[in-house]
Amino acid sequence: MKKRRVIGMSIVATGFIWFQVAGRFEAQRIDEQRETRATTQTRAAKLRVDSDRLMEAVTTLSDPKFEGRAAGTPGGLAARAWVLDRFKGIGLQPVSGSYVYPFTFTRMTMSGRVDGEGANVVGQCLGTDTRAPVFVVSSHYDHLGVRDGKIYPGADDDASGVAVMLAVAEYCQKTPFRRTVVFVAFDAEEAGLQGAKAFMIAPPVPKERIALNVNLDMVSRNDKREIFIAGTHPWPHLKAPLDEVAKRAPITVLFGHDKPVAAAGGVDDWTNQSDHGPFNAAKIPFVYFGVEDHADYHKPTDTADKINRGFFVDVAETVLDAVLQLDLATAVAPPK
Ligand SMILES: [Zn+2]
Repeated sequence: MKKRRVIGMSIVATGFIWFQVAGRFEAQRIDEQRETRATTQTRAAKLRVDSDRLMEAVTTLSDPKFEGRAAGTPGGLAARAWVLDRFKGIGLQPVSGSYVYPFTFTRMTMSGRVDGEGANVVGQCLGTDTRAPVFVVSSHYDHLGVRDGKIYPGADDDASGVAVMLAVAEYCQKTPFRRTVVFVAFDAEEAGLQGAKAFMIAPPVPKERIALNVNLDMVSRNDKREIFIAGTHPWPHLKAPLDEVAKRAPITVLFGHDKPVAAAGGVDDWTNQSDHGPFNAAKIPFVYFGVEDHADYHKPTDTADKINRGFFVDVAETVLDAVLQLDLATAVAPPK
């Protein structure tokens, strides 16, 4: 996740009043959701996610031996090999004959032009209706690497998303969904969503066959047991099925962070802050799951021991429930 704090907005004189008013409305809207959720949430009766395997995936990927998983580094390559091994172990099938999709990228940094390379890991769980448009469930396996001699383990960002993605893939292989689900572990997200951009430039499955992207980035910890879903503002047809999921979720599911900042009065817009951004830009609907920033965000202290295991498992259950619910919903295609 590449979240950006919105600061210094008060110096924008024009529209300041509107900004304050809109901000109050948006913040109020989120607070109202909090209150409703608190009274309606019930614990899911059956657990479908293996919590030990979930934690094991995060602990492994955030282990110092992967050196923070920066794209193109030995640690990043080792993490890729581990993810590939898990995809194969789970039984996911290659897409168009391959699991690994390499790419190169160029980006401008403070110190000038930087060329980089990475590779997305892609595998599919075949659905019972092979003609139906597919879902892409994604997370990113790269992180910030080593900086000033310090390893950035990226346990929440985004080993946690990879772990949940693997849990959904495992469930899908045992109990196939109606739609084929393409699972993608993106590389070089932290370098500017490069893996997702490369995926959209040369999609392993034709773009028009993709009905939805469900992206998971930072899903393992929040003191208030809250997870946000972004995407239903630009893609309102997704709201009804996800409302059902939110109502029965064992955690507090809040909708938001998907409106332009000016219209939301300074509430951050996460639309382009993670790998769902390039999908949205290509007019593919997205659902993003993620928590608010925490004290260890993009710090060497984003370690596995900080994860709230109970919350994390509940998020995984909720994500699985959402994918299943969306798979059942007939109206997941964007309105024409
Ligand atoms: Zn990040």
